[in-house]
Amino acid sequence: MIHNDDSLDEIGESHIGTSAQTPLRSDAFAIDDDQKIALIKKDVENILLTLGMDLTDDSLKGTPNRVAKMFVKEIFGGLNPAKKPSSSTFDNKYKYGEMLVEKNITVYSTCEHHLLPIVGRAHVAYISNGTVVGLSKMNRIVDYFSKRPQVQERLTIQIVDELKKVLGTDDVACVIDAKHLCVNSRGIRDIESSTVTSEFGGKFKNETVRREFLDYIKLDTQF
Ligand SMILES: [Zn+2]
Repeated sequence: MIHNDDSLDEIGESHIGTSAQTPLRSDAFAIDDDQKIALIKKDVENILLTLGMDLTDDSLKGTPNRVAKMFVKEIFGGLNPAKKPSSSTFDNKYKYGEMLVEKNITVYSTCEHHLLPIVGRAHVAYISNGTVVGLSKMNRIVDYFSKRPQVQERLTIQIVDELKKVLGTDDVACVIDAKHLCVNSRGIRDIESSTVTSEFGGKFKNETVRREFLDYIKLDTQF
């Protein structure tokens, strides 16, 4: 497909993702993290210089290196498959055959069209077919796929696909409710709106099962 700059701009502004796979090049990890940090540091320096900033100012001196480290090690650290949470599972000893829901998992991601934060909550559920995962595993999977340049729809699908693989069942669902700072703080500047995406696999395609999951999400947990 050939896109001119205008149609590429349109794809970005409309937040249209083009694939469920993160668009990575095959040589994405040909250089290591330290080499990436060194290169990105120069790029950030250039952006700030072009904008007219005085990089000899004490407040700005460390910014290029700080941003480069943050990109590679933190907010885009989930691009590297080597950092994927290990997929240890357990036998379902309790024979718990009902739905398990992990709700209100914090999502900090980054919109790949504007490189601005996506902040929200993910709610993940599965019905065990004999295998279970530790509860924190679901948080870690959400966190791993969030730490990429992302599109919310893709993030939702990637979380479900990974859990399907780990649990060996299609009975997995995920709902994400998130604010996109590219919508809230610029462009249309709608501070109130949030975006809800969902992916329902296997038994969750059934209306009753899906309703049960959505009802659990609505529970107001008190401590
Ligand atoms: Zn955006």
